[in-house]
Amino acid sequence: MIVSRQKPFAEILDAIDGSSSVFLVGCTKCATVCKSGGEEEIWQMQEALSSAGFEVTGSLVIDEACHMLRVGRDLRSKQQMVTDAGAIIVMACGAGVQSVSAATSKKTIAALDSLFLGNIRRFGQFEQKCSLCGECLLSRTGGICPVTACAKGILNGPCGGMDNGKCETDPEAPCAWAEIFTQLQEDPDGSMLESYTPPKDYGKLPKPGKLKLAK
Ligand code: SF4
Ligand code: SF4
Repeated sequence: MIVSRQKPFAEILDAIDGSSSVFLVGCTKCATVCKSGGEEEIWQMQEALSSAGFEVTGSLVIDEACHMLRVGRDLRSKQQMVTDAGAIIVMACGAGVQSVSAATSKKTIAALDSLFLGNIRRFGQFEQKCSLCGECLLSRTGGICPVTACAKGILNGPCGGMDNGKCETDPEAPCAWAEIFTQLQEDPDGSMLESYTPPKDYGKLPKPGKLKLAK
């Protein structure tokens, strides 16, 4: 899931700049789980904006704000409220914000900062495990991602700063490569420990990413 965090309220007010009325959009998926843009946060934002003197013309929590067709359809279902608003405040990740900006000519305001693709450890606790590098190495590295878990993203580690299994950038954190080494020792023929991983070719990573499934 996309882990996001609400921007400071003052920053959101700054972005509204000149509009006296706003429409609010949230997302039922990631932003709800992160408690940054679900029903509850939309309601809190509505209260805060009303107290600050803004008119909130309406709100909508979309089932996957990154789904562009659905966003267009749902906004049309609230056409008058959207028309009455000077700006739309979107409490969803950057992908969701852009679904909204593509569906309307209204000024679109991003109320969240999108942080990373996160695994959920438990409720309210998220950890980055993958950096979406475009060419996965996990089958060579014992299922531990060096691109993400190593502070330097080293592909053939560990670096010289590893100390007794701990990372030199954070003595509390394990060195990712110490963990990968331990994991690879389980490899029956040991070949993965001997192999060299060439530098990643980030030119292979499409940007902007596009994928169309074959029919
Ligand atoms: S190597 Fe790491 S960053 Fe790249 S796709 Fe695999 S898990 Fe994600
Ligand atoms: S100590 Fe380990 S995890 Fe930390 S930067 Fe060096 S190789 Fe990466």
